[in-house]
Amino acid sequence: MTIATEDLQRLFALIAGDIAAQRDHLCELDGAIGDGDHGLAMDAGCAAAAKAVAALDPAQAAPAAAFNAAAKAFLNAVGASSGPLYATAFMRAGAAVKDRPALSDDDFVRAFSAMAQGVQERGKAEPGEKTMVDAWRPAADAALAAWASGTPLSQSLDMAAQAARQGCEATKDMTAAKGRASRLGERVIGHVDPGAASAAIIVASIAKFVRQ
Ligand code: ADP
Ligand code: MG
Ligand code: MG
Repeated sequence: MTIATEDLQRLFALIAGDIAAQRDHLCELDGAIGDGDHGLAMDAGCAAAAKAVAALDPAQAAPAAAFNAAAKAFLNAVGASSGPLYATAFMRAGAAVKDRPALSDDDFVRAFSAMAQGVQERGKAEPGEKTMVDAWRPAADAALAAWASGTPLSQSLDMAAQAARQGCEATKDMTAAKGRASRLGERVIGHVDPGAASAAIIVASIAKFVRQ
Protein backbone atom coordinates (compact mmCIF):
# COMPACT_ATOMS: atom_id res chain seq x y z
CA MET A 1 0.00 0.00 0.00
CA THR A 2 0.94 3.67 -0.25
CA ILE A 3 0.44 5.80 2.83
CA ALA A 4 -0.13 9.50 2.21
CA THR A 5 -0.76 12.39 4.57
CA GLU A 6 -4.53 11.78 4.32
CA ASP A 7 -3.96 8.26 5.59
CA LEU A 8 -1.88 9.58 8.51
CA GLN A 9 -4.79 11.88 9.37
CA ARG A 10 -6.91 8.74 9.62
CA LEU A 11 -4.21 6.98 11.66
CA PHE A 12 -3.89 9.73 14.25
CA ALA A 13 -7.68 9.97 14.56
CA LEU A 14 -7.85 6.21 15.11
CA ILE A 15 -5.15 6.33 17.80
CA ALA A 16 -6.87 9.25 19.55
CA GLY A 17 -10.20 7.39 19.58
CA ASP A 18 -8.72 4.16 20.92
CA ILE A 19 -6.77 5.98 23.65
CA ALA A 20 -9.82 8.08 24.60
CA ALA A 21 -11.84 4.87 25.04
CA GLN A 22 -9.21 3.58 27.51
CA ARG A 23 -8.57 6.88 29.30
CA ASP A 24 -10.09 5.89 32.64
CA HIS A 25 -8.50 2.45 32.57
CA LEU A 26 -5.06 4.01 31.95
CA CYS A 27 -5.62 6.43 34.84
CA GLU A 28 -6.49 3.51 37.11
CA LEU A 29 -3.32 1.66 36.15
CA ASP A 30 -1.28 4.82 36.85
CA GLY A 31 -3.19 5.33 40.10
CA ALA A 32 -1.85 2.02 41.38
CA ILE A 33 1.86 2.73 40.83
CA GLY A 34 2.10 6.39 39.76
CA ASP A 35 0.14 9.63 40.07
CA GLY A 36 -3.01 8.57 38.22
CA ASP A 37 -2.79 10.96 35.27
CA HIS A 38 -1.57 8.70 32.48
CA GLY A 39 -4.97 8.33 30.79
CA LEU A 40 -5.53 12.08 30.90
CA ALA A 41 -2.04 12.77 29.56
CA MET A 42 -2.31 10.30 26.69
CA ASP A 43 -5.85 11.37 25.83
CA ALA A 44 -4.86 15.05 25.75
CA GLY A 45 -1.70 14.32 23.76
CA CYS A 46 -3.29 12.02 21.20
CA ALA A 47 -6.31 14.31 20.73
CA ALA A 48 -4.02 17.32 20.19
CA ALA A 49 -1.84 15.34 17.78
CA ALA A 50 -4.88 14.16 15.79
CA LYS A 51 -6.25 17.70 15.64
CA ALA A 52 -2.93 19.16 14.46
CA VAL A 53 -2.53 16.51 11.76
CA ALA A 54 -6.16 16.93 10.67
CA ALA A 55 -5.57 20.68 10.25
CA LEU A 56 -2.86 20.10 7.62
CA ASP A 57 -3.64 20.38 3.92
CA PRO A 58 -2.56 17.00 2.51
CA ALA A 59 -1.76 18.69 -0.80
CA GLN A 60 0.85 20.83 0.95
CA ALA A 61 2.08 18.70 3.84
CA ALA A 62 4.16 15.56 3.30
CA PRO A 63 3.98 12.63 5.76
CA ALA A 64 7.08 13.88 7.59
CA ALA A 65 5.31 17.20 8.25
CA ALA A 66 2.35 15.27 9.69
CA PHE A 67 4.60 13.41 12.13
CA ASN A 68 6.30 16.68 13.07
CA ALA A 69 2.97 18.42 13.67
CA ALA A 70 1.88 15.49 15.85
CA ALA A 71 5.11 15.71 17.85
CA LYS A 72 4.78 19.41 18.53
CA ALA A 73 1.10 19.20 19.47
CA PHE A 74 1.65 16.19 21.75
CA LEU A 75 4.48 17.94 23.58
CA ASN A 76 2.48 21.15 24.06
CA ALA A 77 -0.57 19.29 25.36
CA VAL A 78 1.16 17.04 27.88
CA GLY A 79 3.00 17.98 31.07
CA ALA A 80 3.67 14.39 32.14
CA SER A 81 6.71 12.23 31.27
CA SER A 82 4.89 10.73 28.30
CA GLY A 83 4.96 14.18 26.58
CA PRO A 84 8.62 14.31 25.54
CA LEU A 85 8.72 10.53 25.00
CA TYR A 86 5.98 10.56 22.33
CA ALA A 87 7.10 13.90 20.91
CA THR A 88 10.50 12.32 20.26
CA ALA A 89 8.86 9.18 18.85
CA PHE A 90 6.86 11.19 16.29
CA MET A 91 9.85 13.43 15.44
CA ARG A 92 11.95 10.35 14.73
CA ALA A 93 9.20 8.86 12.58
CA GLY A 94 9.19 12.13 10.61
CA ALA A 95 12.97 12.10 10.24
CA ALA A 96 12.86 8.48 9.03
CA VAL A 97 10.60 9.44 6.11
CA LYS A 98 11.98 12.90 5.39
CA ASP A 99 11.39 14.06 1.79
CA ARG A 100 9.01 11.19 0.95
CA PRO A 101 5.87 12.44 -0.82
CA ALA A 102 4.09 9.25 0.32
CA LEU A 103 5.17 6.21 2.28
CA SER A 104 5.84 2.76 0.89
CA ASP A 105 5.32 -0.24 3.17
CA ASP A 106 9.05 -0.23 3.83
CA ASP A 107 8.98 3.47 4.77
CA PHE A 108 6.12 2.77 7.17
CA VAL A 109 8.03 -0.03 8.90
CA ARG A 110 11.03 2.29 9.23
CA ALA A 111 8.88 5.07 10.69
CA PHE A 112 7.34 2.60 13.15
CA SER A 113 10.73 1.32 14.24
CA ALA A 114 12.02 4.90 14.57
CA MET A 115 9.19 5.63 17.02
CA ALA A 116 10.32 2.82 19.30
CA GLN A 117 13.93 3.93 19.00
CA GLY A 118 12.92 7.50 19.83
CA VAL A 119 11.06 6.49 22.98
CA GLN A 120 13.97 4.36 24.07
CA GLU A 121 16.64 6.98 23.47
CA ARG A 122 14.66 9.87 24.96
CA GLY A 123 13.88 7.99 28.16
CA LYS A 124 17.18 6.09 28.28
CA ALA A 125 15.26 3.01 29.38
CA GLU A 126 16.15 -0.56 28.48
CA PRO A 127 13.68 -3.43 28.25
CA GLY A 128 13.02 -4.93 31.70
CA GLU A 129 12.76 -1.57 33.50
CA LYS A 130 8.94 -1.56 33.58
CA THR A 131 8.29 1.27 31.13
CA MET A 132 6.63 1.75 27.75
CA VAL A 133 9.89 0.48 26.23
CA ASP A 134 8.79 -3.00 27.35
CA ALA A 135 5.97 -2.76 24.80
CA TRP A 136 7.66 -0.61 22.13
CA ARG A 137 10.96 -2.49 21.82
CA PRO A 138 9.50 -6.00 21.26
CA ALA A 139 6.86 -4.49 18.96
CA ALA A 140 9.48 -2.84 16.74
CA ASP A 141 11.70 -5.94 16.81
CA ALA A 142 8.77 -8.15 15.81
CA ALA A 143 7.75 -5.84 12.95
CA LEU A 144 11.32 -5.48 11.66
CA ALA A 145 12.01 -9.24 11.80
CA ALA A 146 8.71 -10.16 10.16
CA TRP A 147 9.07 -7.51 7.44
CA ALA A 148 12.71 -8.46 6.73
CA SER A 149 11.70 -12.09 6.21
CA GLY A 150 9.06 -11.19 3.63
CA THR A 151 5.92 -11.06 5.78
CA PRO A 152 3.31 -8.61 4.40
CA LEU A 153 2.97 -5.26 6.19
CA SER A 154 -0.40 -5.98 7.76
CA GLN A 155 0.73 -9.29 9.25
CA SER A 156 4.05 -7.77 10.36
CA LEU A 157 2.17 -5.14 12.35
CA ASP A 158 -0.25 -7.70 13.76
CA MET A 159 2.82 -9.50 15.09
CA ALA A 160 4.06 -6.20 16.52
CA ALA A 161 0.72 -5.67 18.26
CA GLN A 162 0.89 -9.14 19.77
CA ALA A 163 4.49 -8.54 20.93
CA ALA A 164 3.46 -5.21 22.50
CA ARG A 165 0.59 -6.88 24.35
CA GLN A 166 2.88 -9.62 25.65
CA GLY A 167 5.56 -7.07 26.56
CA CYS A 168 2.99 -5.06 28.47
CA GLU A 169 1.76 -8.15 30.32
CA ALA A 170 5.36 -9.01 31.27
CA THR A 171 5.76 -5.66 33.07
CA LYS A 172 3.54 -7.10 35.84
CA ASP A 173 6.45 -9.17 37.13
CA MET A 174 8.98 -6.31 37.04
CA THR A 175 10.15 -3.70 39.50
CA ALA A 176 10.60 -0.26 37.96
CA ALA A 177 13.99 1.28 37.24
CA LYS A 178 12.69 4.48 35.60
CA GLY A 179 9.94 7.00 36.29
CA ARG A 180 7.75 7.51 39.33
CA ALA A 181 7.17 3.80 39.97
CA SER A 182 10.91 3.31 40.56
CA ARG A 183 10.47 4.87 44.01
CA LEU A 184 8.06 2.14 45.10
CA GLY A 185 10.36 -0.88 44.95
CA GLU A 186 8.73 -4.31 45.20
CA ARG A 187 5.31 -2.79 45.77
CA VAL A 188 4.79 -2.35 42.02
CA ILE A 189 5.05 -6.08 41.33
CA GLY A 190 1.72 -7.46 40.16
CA HIS A 191 0.78 -4.19 38.42
CA VAL A 192 1.01 -3.54 34.68
CA ASP A 193 3.01 -0.44 33.72
CA PRO A 194 0.55 2.20 32.47
CA GLY A 195 2.91 3.46 29.76
CA ALA A 196 3.35 -0.07 28.42
CA ALA A 197 -0.44 -0.45 28.41
CA SER A 198 -0.99 2.73 26.37
CA ALA A 199 1.85 1.73 24.04
CA ALA A 200 0.13 -1.62 23.40
CA ILE A 201 -3.10 0.25 22.57
CA ILE A 202 -1.26 2.53 20.12
CA VAL A 203 0.53 -0.36 18.41
CA ALA A 204 -2.83 -2.18 18.12
CA SER A 205 -4.34 0.98 16.56
CA ILE A 206 -1.48 1.12 14.05
CA ALA A 207 -2.00 -2.55 13.14
CA LYS A 208 -5.75 -1.92 12.74
CA PHE A 209 -5.01 1.10 10.51
CA VAL A 210 -2.82 -0.99 8.21
CA ARG A 211 -5.48 -3.76 8.01
CA GLN A 212 -8.23 -1.32 6.95
P1 ADP B 1 4.16 10.98 34.88
O1 ADP B 1 4.85 9.86 35.57
O2 ADP B 1 5.02 12.18 34.70
O3 ADP B 1 2.83 11.30 35.49
P2 ADP B 1 2.76 9.57 32.76
O4 ADP B 1 1.80 9.13 33.81
O5 ADP B 1 2.17 10.20 31.55
O6 ADP B 1 3.88 10.49 33.36
O7 ADP B 1 3.58 8.33 32.20
C1 ADP B 1 4.06 7.33 33.03
C2 ADP B 1 4.72 6.30 32.13
O8 ADP B 1 5.85 6.86 31.48
C3 ADP B 1 5.27 5.10 32.87
O9 ADP B 1 4.25 4.14 33.08
C4 ADP B 1 6.35 4.60 31.96
O10 ADP B 1 5.84 3.67 31.01
C5 ADP B 1 6.76 5.83 31.18
N1 ADP B 1 8.09 6.29 31.55
C6 ADP B 1 8.47 6.99 32.63
N2 ADP B 1 9.79 7.24 32.59
C7 ADP B 1 10.25 6.67 31.44
C8 ADP B 1 11.54 6.56 30.81
N3 ADP B 1 12.64 7.11 31.34
N4 ADP B 1 11.61 5.88 29.64
C9 ADP B 1 10.53 5.33 29.08
N5 ADP B 1 9.30 5.41 29.62
C10 ADP B 1 9.16 6.04 30.78
MG1 MG C 1 1.40 9.69 35.68
MG1 MG D 1 2.02 13.13 36.20
